[in-house]
Amino acid sequence: MRGKLVVGNWKMYGGLRQNDALFADLRAGWAPPEGRRLAVCVPFPYLWQAQAALSGSAIAWGAQNISEHATGAFTGEVSAAMVVEFGCRYAIVGHSERRTLFAETDAVVAAKTAAAMAAGLTPIVCVGETLAEREAGSTETVVSRQLDAVLAQLGARVVDVVLAYEPVWAIGTGRTATPEEAQAVHAMVRRRLRAVDPAAADVPVLYGGSVKADNAQTLFACADVDGGLVGGASLKAAEFLAIAHA
Ligand code: PEP
Repeated sequence: MRGKLVVGNWKMYGGLRQNDALFADLRAGWAPPEGRRLAVCVPFPYLWQAQAALSGSAIAWGAQNISEHATGAFTGEVSAAMVVEFGCRYAIVGHSERRTLFAETDAVVAAKTAAAMAAGLTPIVCVGETLAEREAGSTETVVSRQLDAVLAQLGARVVDVVLAYEPVWAIGTGRTATPEEAQAVHAMVRRRLRAVDPAAADVPVLYGGSVKADNAQTLFACADVDGGLVGGASLKAAEFLAIAHA
């Protein structure tokens, strides 16, 4: 029984006062049903605030990115070990916004995944195709290529990651994959995981892309969808909690 995990990705949104209110509302509204987990990935400057507000609650927190390097002269970068000092359990790596806007390659994403694990974080590794790639019939090729880079780096250690299938055309667009579209890719991802190691078949595979309270239930009901990575809707406590309960 894999249970369900819902993770909020705040992206570059937030502010001290609004975060306080959001953390308080989430904390007050989250009494996890059996097998449900909830986490929020916040901008780096708010990790201390997440730690202060959520310590002792059933809500975990994490970063949205980390450096692939452990330490050194990398101005502006933040290491995995640094975010661990703020109590992070998770780090998102390879989000499509990082891949496209910050030119992160499959190799960089794989290195970041390994760096996160070396520091004791659970990486949430994002994969997903663009609209042009889907329309060209390349979804499986693209997602497999992204996944294979991580599998080549980790091998059987992949049992300790979380994966997120996020079709790029569904992120922040209001256009969600249908449950059938999501399930087809998730099943393919799970087949590839199982081929690496039977235990890896239990790696949580989240769906991300315009998840809302009104579509979460049908998406999460899919056999291979183990929860969601939620952007915009994670900034509204009531909506995010409704998704987490879906
Ligand atoms: C995301 O940022 O990972 C995401 C899925 O965004 P949204 O839910 O807003 O589409």
